Amino acid sequence: MEYISTRNNNKKFSFSEVFLKGLADDGGLFIPLSIKKFDESKMNSLKKLSYIDLATEIIYLYTGDFLSKKELNEIVKKSYSNFREKDVVKIVELNQFKILELFHGPTLAFKDIAMQLIGNMYEHFLKSNYRTINIVVATSGDTGAAAIDAIKGKSNLNIFVLHPNNRISSVQRKIMTTVEEKNVFNIAIDGNFDDCQNIVKQMFSDLEFSKSINMSGVNSINWARIVAQAVYYFYAQFKLDKDNISFSVPTGNFGDVFAGYLAKKMGLPIDKLIVATNENDILYRAITKGEYISKEVRETLSPSMDIQLASNFERLIYYVNNSSSEKTAEIMKKVKQNSYQIEKKDLDIIKKDFLSESCNEKETLEIIKKNYKENDMVLDPHTAIGVGAAQKLSLNDCVVLSTAHPCKFPDATNNAINKHEKLPEELQHVLNKNENFQILENNTDEVKKFIKSKIL
Ligand SMILES: *Cc1c(COP(=O)(O)O)cnc(C)c1O
Repeated sequence: MEYISTRNNNKKFSFSEVFLKGLADDGGLFIPLSIKKFDESKMNSLKKLSYIDLATEIIYLYTGDFLSKKELNEIVKKSYSNFREKDVVKIVELNQFKILELFHGPTLAFKDIAMQLIGNMYEHFLKSNYRTINIVVATSGDTGAAAIDAIKGKSNLNIFVLHPNNRISSVQRKIMTTVEEKNVFNIAIDGNFDDCQNIVKQMFSDLEFSKSINMSGVNSINWARIVAQAVYYFYAQFKLDKDNISFSVPTGNFGDVFAGYLAKKMGLPIDKLIVATNENDILYRAITKGEYISKEVRETLSPSMDIQLASNFERLIYYVNNSSSEKTAEIMKKVKQNSYQIEKKDLDIIKKDFLSESCNEKETLEIIKKNYKENDMVLDPHTAIGVGAAQKLSLNDCVVLSTAHPCKFPDATNNAINKHEKLPEELQHVLNKNENFQILENNTDEVKKFIKSKIL
């Protein structure tokens, strides 16, 4: 499988380049040269597979000669061996909806599903490449935890995670900062998530710096993450054995919901993908009114969705514009100037696949309260927004992606129902362990200096 950048589709890349670089040098996102659609008989054979084997079949389409199918199968098996659910994910009922629980991995958020796999892919890559890779990633809470768990203790890999100081839940922070392995470095930036992400972007674009430390990224634009997430759309639809269901997806960076779009492009008969947002509603305004204009980031009860510009949206822009990289590059210039209004004809194309709704803070708390009272189910604030969006759209055949375990967000559940969920046994220890993190100014040079001091 060959890849191109959304901003230049003349130059080809291999999976290993795409995997290690994350972002193309021209600032674009990697996408496969073509997306193969499964035919009916292949679909029927996929239906019979376990989650592990299904994941192997789907991911293998995109990894090329990076590894053999057998090696990939081993990696997938190993990646999900520490999940609390044998089938990795679990489907439960909530009134007229199905809830697809994706949080049974080691750090209690859906990000484990892709990240565990990526960690083991790095390990595979380093078996034949003698060097040390430094992973640097910004997090609004869950990415960092999942990445740390996936990378900790692996040889020839270090991981540096930047989180916004005091702006993530204490459980989220403790899962990251109580890890003892020597290759894990937590940095709390005096700023918000966008500041953290900007610092990482600036370090990547400083080629002298990024090459000197073999810098690599695992944020949600990494194509391997998208592919790993496409698997559970297939799995859910096969389990429910029904065509044309919709998926409601709590959305921040548009990675998870784009994985659903990929699954649809691969032939999975999905009806609509619902982009559920919190008060940071740029995607809601974009999809309903064509207004892709960012505002100040607001802190909400669902911090993992407190994002304005959604990086992965560029991939959709590319497809909506008939795979024209010139057009995409032009549009991304407008996005940079914060003046992109989606044309009517493009919006009509988007609306064939996507719907969107947004829930404010009050609504989020109400949804948590109502579902606890009526169904005895505690929803985390992100999942609550997925449920709220599906309700507002009056959808019946709808699967809501449940992206985090409610115990990760005790403030939200305390506020809504005066109760917080207990951490699973194997994570209880993080509550009382010593934390280890460095607070740094919102300044790229400071962060560079810190990283250099740790690895040289
Ligand atoms: C990351 C995250 C999201 C948003 O996912 P995107 O791929 O960025 O859209 C939603 N919920 C939770 C709990 C998350 O950690």
